[in-house]
Amino acid sequence: MTKVKRVYSFGNGKAEGKTEMKNLLGGKGANLAEMNLIGVPVPPGFTITTDVCEEYYQLGKEKVIELLKPEVEEAIKNIEKLTNTIFGDKKNPCLVSVRSGARASMPGMMDTVLNLGLNDEVVEGIAIKSGNHRFAWDSYRRFVQMYGDVVLGMKPESKEDIDPFEEIMENLKESKGIDNDTDFSVEDLKELVIKFKSAVKKQTGQDFPTDSYEQLWGSVMAVFNSWHNNRAIVYRRMENIPDEWGTAVNVQAMVYGNMGKNSATGVAFTRDAGTGENIFNGEYLIDAQGEDVVAGIRTPQQITLEGSKRWATLAEVSEEQRKSKFPSLEEAMPEMYKQLNETQDRLEKHYSDMQDLEFTIQDGKLWLLQTRNGKRTGAAMIKLAVDMLNEGMIDEKTSLLRIEPNKLDELLHPIFDGAAINKAVTLAKGLPASPGAATGRIIFFADEADKYEDSILVRIETSPEDLEGMNIARGILTAKGGMTSHAAVVARGMGKCCVSGAGAIKINYKNREMNIDGKILKEGDWISLNGSTGEVYDSKVDTKDPEMSGDFGIVMKLSDKYARMHVRTNADTPHDARVARDFGAQGIGLTRTEHMFFEGERIKVMREMILANDEEGRRNALNRLLPYQREDFEGILEAMEGFGVTIRLLDPPLHEFVPHEEANQKDMADEMGISVQDVKDMVESLSEFNPMLGHRGCRLGNTYPEITEMQARAIIEAAINLKKKGVDARPEIMVPLIGTVKEYKMQEDIIRETAEKVFKEKGEKIDYLVGTMIEIPRAALTADLVAEYAEFFSFGTNDLTQMTFGYSRDDAGKFLKIYIEKGLLKYDPFQVLDQEGVGQLVKMGTEKGRSTNKNLKVGICGEHGGEPTSVEFCDSVGMDYVSCSPFRVPIARLAAAQASIKKN
Ligand code: PEP
Ligand code: MG
Repeated sequence: MTKVKRVYSFGNGKAEGKTEMKNLLGGKGANLAEMNLIGVPVPPGFTITTDVCEEYYQLGKEKVIELLKPEVEEAIKNIEKLTNTIFGDKKNPCLVSVRSGARASMPGMMDTVLNLGLNDEVVEGIAIKSGNHRFAWDSYRRFVQMYGDVVLGMKPESKEDIDPFEEIMENLKESKGIDNDTDFSVEDLKELVIKFKSAVKKQTGQDFPTDSYEQLWGSVMAVFNSWHNNRAIVYRRMENIPDEWGTAVNVQAMVYGNMGKNSATGVAFTRDAGTGENIFNGEYLIDAQGEDVVAGIRTPQQITLEGSKRWATLAEVSEEQRKSKFPSLEEAMPEMYKQLNETQDRLEKHYSDMQDLEFTIQDGKLWLLQTRNGKRTGAAMIKLAVDMLNEGMIDEKTSLLRIEPNKLDELLHPIFDGAAINKAVTLAKGLPASPGAATGRIIFFADEADKYEDSILVRIETSPEDLEGMNIARGILTAKGGMTSHAAVVARGMGKCCVSGAGAIKINYKNREMNIDGKILKEGDWISLNGSTGEVYDSKVDTKDPEMSGDFGIVMKLSDKYARMHVRTNADTPHDARVARDFGAQGIGLTRTEHMFFEGERIKVMREMILANDEEGRRNALNRLLPYQREDFEGILEAMEGFGVTIRLLDPPLHEFVPHEEANQKDMADEMGISVQDVKDMVESLSEFNPMLGHRGCRLGNTYPEITEMQARAIIEAAINLKKKGVDARPEIMVPLIGTVKEYKMQEDIIRETAEKVFKEKGEKIDYLVGTMIEIPRAALTADLVAEYAEFFSFGTNDLTQMTFGYSRDDAGKFLKIYIEKGLLKYDPFQVLDQEGVGQLVKMGTEKGRSTNKNLKVGICGEHGGEPTSVEFCDSVGMDYVSCSPFRVPIARLAAAQASIKKN
């Protein structure tokens, strides 16, 4: 049996690890090793592997220490040798840092202990050796504080209490009449150490450990424990980092940026993480330890002269003041700057990516403590990928893989102004249903959306009746409903900012006000929404338009070069179709015809149709609807000229077309010349216990064939009219919600017979396809039978998910959040396709369908069609296209390209 290696050493240009070992050593550990190998100065140390983290959770502390002991002692010896010090020695001590480091960077989420190895005797040794008593005691004070907090659990007892150590420091400052930590004398620091230790004893009942190995084991285990602290768990959930990964632990010889005027510490980025510009930048402080740079006690200074000048302008600091009080590293320590600049350049070239660095200068010597690929905004992500491609640093495929498809979203919608958002007050949080930023005045009724120039529609939930108002409003906020609620789906289609399911909001329509945790907001009050995060802000927060650069176009072009699948769009209007086309959509994968029945006069005629007692009455009304439909179809087919346009026959239950509120029922009664009671009776007769499983989809067309006839006629006539105008219209007629081949066939026959009739009448023919949605599990299971007739399949994964899980699309919002929190589900399956379950039906449906019809065209039109992991799955099952809302088209194009690249 081969021996398991648990500890990997590095130092002085040698390392047992390397970048490729990220899974085992964590990002930080792998890069510390790699930096050694390429000659970047790194304090010597070692990494305990992520596998040990798992062992720790299985075997417990004692057993893991036993397993680690020989290797750790060996690795400590290596540090001692390279630094010429001794761990735990009183005269010539070796102090170390203990830091976490998972595979993916989780900045600030886990724990760190610095200056480990100090005790009452060692501190004297450090004082003598460094000749700096203040430094020695300040380090000791920091160590006891950090170790007490991280390892011994010295936390505030309740959220109202202040940190126990901070309390002691504040008291001492008060009694001495001093303001800053830096004003403590050596005697003060000694007093603090004593007080800290007795506080530890009092709160935990334990003596502060003096043995350096005991301190080390305590810290290593604390880092493992911190993998499961709340911050880390929440962060992992946000970033989709698996719980199983675990963290590595990095132990390194300490270097000090707080050893006087010749020492410093800082952080830097090799390029601008906000804009992507190729400008080295960062911040540093002289005579400071790492945490001081971020703690906000002192004003950090800029690394480069150029950055420093830019900063001074923004901070309104005069050049004279800047130079004397806040000089750049370039000015203050030119030689160190030169070395740092060379190092950043070397690291960026080595990793071929923008790096985020941490460094320390100890007494005139530069040390790198960390390098990692820097986090960046969507705009920077694109610019970096394109610039590095142009610079020859990376190839086309790498360039495309560098961009997270979802980040493109940031570039397609209005965004909040940076300064304004920093001051904004959050009132509530809902689901990030449709991205972008919106600010406006509250209205509670869709038909009043034009009351203000900028309005935000606030509803408990929305319905198709609200469509026009939703289109006018700047943004939409709902108290109920999930990511596939009506509001969410429609808003995404419109590219409009929407926050859904903000449960803290209690709306009182009567009083035209809402209550958010006791705060009352009335109609006309300003609020702001962040549809990308789900945040609801108080008052007006200024927004600005996104800036789309030429780089965006380059990325899209490249995407199309590598993608196998096409990207279509879900669009119900010519306007949406054009927007999507501008974003690169090649056709329409779903036109929901029902949305066309709400505008102006149409809804009245539609209601007459529903109200009719017999076929003749229905036909009369349908004849009046026909011209509207034909006109709609002409518009949309023309906007997508040259590409396939999938038009779905009427799908929703009829009750969605009738008014449910008393006032609207009265309006309808007046308009139709009938009594309110008649209207009420009709609404009542249409009500179903489970409308989603009720009289909808092809069940409508099979019970009332005249509806299908009218729609088929409108589509075919529209295409013929366009053909006469020289427009290349390519309709694809789609039957919704079939479960059996007979349901499909009955609809297909009606469509084809109608088409033949129209051809005869018009003396003109056009090409068209007939196919179906696969959104009921039974349809997927019998896809081979259906495909003997259908020319295309489009997976309606919204309904397919609903019916496979048995989760109502409209009600699941209530419990899905809790399910995800409890780990019962990894994702909301209405957002991210459940490949394990629903995916099986998609795969089987595609394969079975193609087994009887090898030319079967297959796509997806559920919300998942614009979600990158789902797009990758669609590619893997061999779909021809994905279809998504217009504003997600670029995301899907990139995701489709990445899917192809990863596969090959
Ligand atoms: C679906 O069910 O996935 C679909 C696209 O149809 P709808 O959302 O209109 O039910
Ligand atoms: Mg559906």
